[in-house]
Parts: sequence; C-alpha cells; structure tokens
Amino acid sequence: MNGPTHRLIANIALSSLDQKERHILYPRWGGIESGATLSDDFRIMWEPKVASTKNKQLVHRCYVDSENSKNHGCVTRALDHAEGSISFIKDYMEDGESMGYTEDEFLENLGMFLGIASHHISDLCTPVHVGHKMDYLKAGAKSQSAFHKILERDLVRYSCQAQITLSKPQKISISKRYFFNIAKDTYSNQFVNLEEIYSKDDVEGKINMTSYVISHSIKHTANIWHTVLLESGMENRTWSMQPLL
Ligand SMILES: [Zn+2]
Repeated sequence: MNGPTHRLIANIALSSLDQKERHILYPRWGGIESGATLSDDFRIMWEPKVASTKNKQLVHRCYVDSENSKNHGCVTRALDHAEGSISFIKDYMEDGESMGYTEDEFLENLGMFLGIASHHISDLCTPVHVGHKMDYLKAGAKSQSAFHKILERDLVRYSCQAQITLSKPQKISISKRYFFNIAKDTYSNQFVNLEEIYSKDDVEGKINMTSYVISHSIKHTANIWHTVLLESGMENRTWSMQPLL
C-alpha cells in the first residue's frame, strides 16, 4: 500500500474513535502520520529483532498461500507494535521519569508506534500482501512486482470512488490469531478474485476491492487503537495538549 492510502486510513481511523480517545491522540498526529509511512520511508523489509537469524521474516507480507513463516512477518510486526504500545504506556504511567522521556516525547513516540501498527494492519488488508500464487500475465502485468505496483496505484486512484463503511471501534483480544485472521479474510474475499478482475479490466470490481481494503484497514486500525488505550488505562488520565472541550 502506498503512503497516501496509509495516511488516509490513519486519518479516518482517528476520526472514528470516541471523543475522549480522539482528544488524547489528535495532538500526536505528527507521530501517527510518520509511523504510518515509516516502514516504507526507511525501507524496513525484515523484522529487525530476528533479521540476522534464520527465523527472519519479511514484515510487509503475510502470504496465506505460503507455509514458510518468512512470509508471515506482517503479523509479527503488527502484533509487536500493538502489544508493545500497551506495555510502553503502562511503563510510562508507572515510572515515566526513569525512562528519561518528557510527557510530550513519550506521547510522540506512542503516536509513532500506533502509526506503525496501522501500517502493518493496512498491509494485512491489501490483497497483494496476503497472497502470491496467481497468473500475473493473465492479469495483464509482466511480473509479480509490476502487478503489485498496479494494484497499489489503483487503491490511490479509486479511493475517491470507494464506499467507505465505518463501524464503532470494538475492544478485541490482541493476538497472533486476530492479525492472521485479517490476512485470511483479505485472501479469501479479495486475493482470489484479482486474476478475474484484472484480466477483464473490471473497473467496478477494482472500486469494490478498494472499498474493502480501505474500510477493513480503518476498522482494524481503530479496533487496535481503541483496545490499546482501554487496556493500558490511558483514558483515565489527562494528557498534555488535549483540546479544552
Ligand atoms: Zn508496508
């Protein structure tokens, strides 16, 4: 997924939270926006913790049609940043001074972690990030990477015509299974249709695919952000730069 789509999703996810949560996160938009595009800006391909081991994982994909865990790194990275945000908040609230952060620095970093989580959640909702076994020539592209670029360009191109469905953010159980299921749903609802949609140049099909990708990315991003704020107890405190009303 390209930067403009990642930013759009983070923006709408933020606006779909309830007022208390919005007011905590609005002033951290700079951090959230940077986080939402950081993995691409810095070309982070491998999960840093295990990049030098034989367990290394590619962090922008969870190929449901591959058994190799190297191809499932997007789940690891989304999970790490969701769980990591909760422990980061709890640690700061228990003893922020010993971490050497001012409150603003803590909040800016938190915004970035939440943005990174959104990036990888959105990748899990993007068909070309969750599967790779299809006939790219039949779909009108000369290679897998060429098709990847075409589809991501289409997500930007058709975002204005997409029907975006919004739902109230839900508290969910943060787990590997939650993120893997996002990829599985994207695979069975969208990836399997790509060959047909692109071989026929079915514009309505492309718009429907875009609607799915954007709506589900927003839904899962907002679910995770809502759960992080709730589980960490962050909503019980007033934070710097919150709007007055
Ligand atoms: Zn990515």
